[in-house]
Amino acid sequence: MQPFTYTRPETIDEAVGQAEGARYLAGGTDLMTLMKRDIDTPERLIDIKRLPELDDTITSTGDGVEIGALATLSELERHPLITASYPALSGAAAIAATPQLRNMATIGGNLLQRPRCWYYRSEEVTCWLNGGDTCYAREGENQHHALFQPSPCVATHSSDPATALLALDAEVTVRGPGGERTVPIGEFFAAPEEERRRETTLGAGEIVTAIRLPAVAPNERSTYRKAMDRKVWAFALVGVAARVVMDGDRVSEARLVLGGVAPVPWRVETAEAELVGTTLDAAAIDKAAEAALEGAIPLAKNGHKIPLAKALVRNALEDLASPGSGAPA
Ligand SMILES: Cc1cc2nc3c(=O)[nH]c(=O)nc-3n(C[C@H](O)[C@H](O)[C@H](O)COP(=O)(O)OP(=O)(O)OC[C@H]3O[C@@H](n4cnc5c(N)ncnc54)[C@H](O)[C@@H]3O)c2cc1C
Ligand code: SF4
Repeated sequence: MQPFTYTRPETIDEAVGQAEGARYLAGGTDLMTLMKRDIDTPERLIDIKRLPELDDTITSTGDGVEIGALATLSELERHPLITASYPALSGAAAIAATPQLRNMATIGGNLLQRPRCWYYRSEEVTCWLNGGDTCYAREGENQHHALFQPSPCVATHSSDPATALLALDAEVTVRGPGGERTVPIGEFFAAPEEERRRETTLGAGEIVTAIRLPAVAPNERSTYRKAMDRKVWAFALVGVAARVVMDGDRVSEARLVLGGVAPVPWRVETAEAELVGTTLDAAAIDKAAEAALEGAIPLAKNGHKIPLAKALVRNALEDLASPGSGAPA
């Protein structure tokens, strides 16, 4: 591990002013792993856990819910405002990592975690995402990698909550050298590209301060499903977050987002369109599951994810059609 200095600023502005060459430290569950392997080598760690202006509260705002960036996954799993109205999010948090990790892991850090690609996390190679020339996974061991490839990097995004938050139309509030801004979460995430080898559009020095969820519509339902290679303590091979608003017995609005299939949470609008106006009957669910994987291009070793993702989409939508009936994946 490279030497670094540690600071604990009193204000967000002070933290932002120290950000050059530094990383913000929240729960440390991802950052410390990367630093121990010299994959991330900041000169300074800026501890944001005790910043009085940043909080871990989950509050009703009248037109939705605001989640402080320091709220832990455990809090999201259990908080009544989340479990009652946003079950896709509480479900995604509940199935992430382990209870011990969920007690440490903040939602801000969760959205900003780096890929679990074994080449990226290896001390032996410097892959494209980490500044090298080659994506080793593209022709290598790519069992867990992307089915949709909008980037030179074919790693998948590992956050369960991010998949749910996109289905819930969340927004992310950030503060940085240019002041405060709020962005739809679909614009917060962006597949890595040549000049920005990261999974988000967070600017230099910016701190995530809060996540905002819109108020739930009457007759809104949401759910999260996750397929893993073992039952606990595993990242999503595929995740599915689904949300519908019902008007009588018909779907008036739908969101369907896949996790574990692309470098960012992957919204499938063609599949959503298959659901609107239907009664969420079996035929509509089948069509949506097929549409969700249209355009998927498997790599040499991850073709198994296509039938897995289709089955998980069906499972999630069956749960929404008859809440409580879908067996957890
Ligand atoms: C064994 C293991 C299993 C896991 N399984 C899952 C899983 O199944 N599903 C899942 O979703 N996740 C999983 N995770 C990931 C885990 O949820 C993340 O490591 C955690 O949420 C990161 O949060 P943190 O507070 O510890 O962030 P840190 O490690 O402190 O920070 C992570 C990154 O975010 C930056 N950062 C943190 N907070 C902010 C902020 N407010 N503003 C700007 N930058 C910030 C840091 O600088 C750093 O770059 C797992 C992790 C481990 C170690
Ligand atoms: S998939 Fe991404 S993280 Fe993995 S080797 Fe390729 S560039 Fe690196």
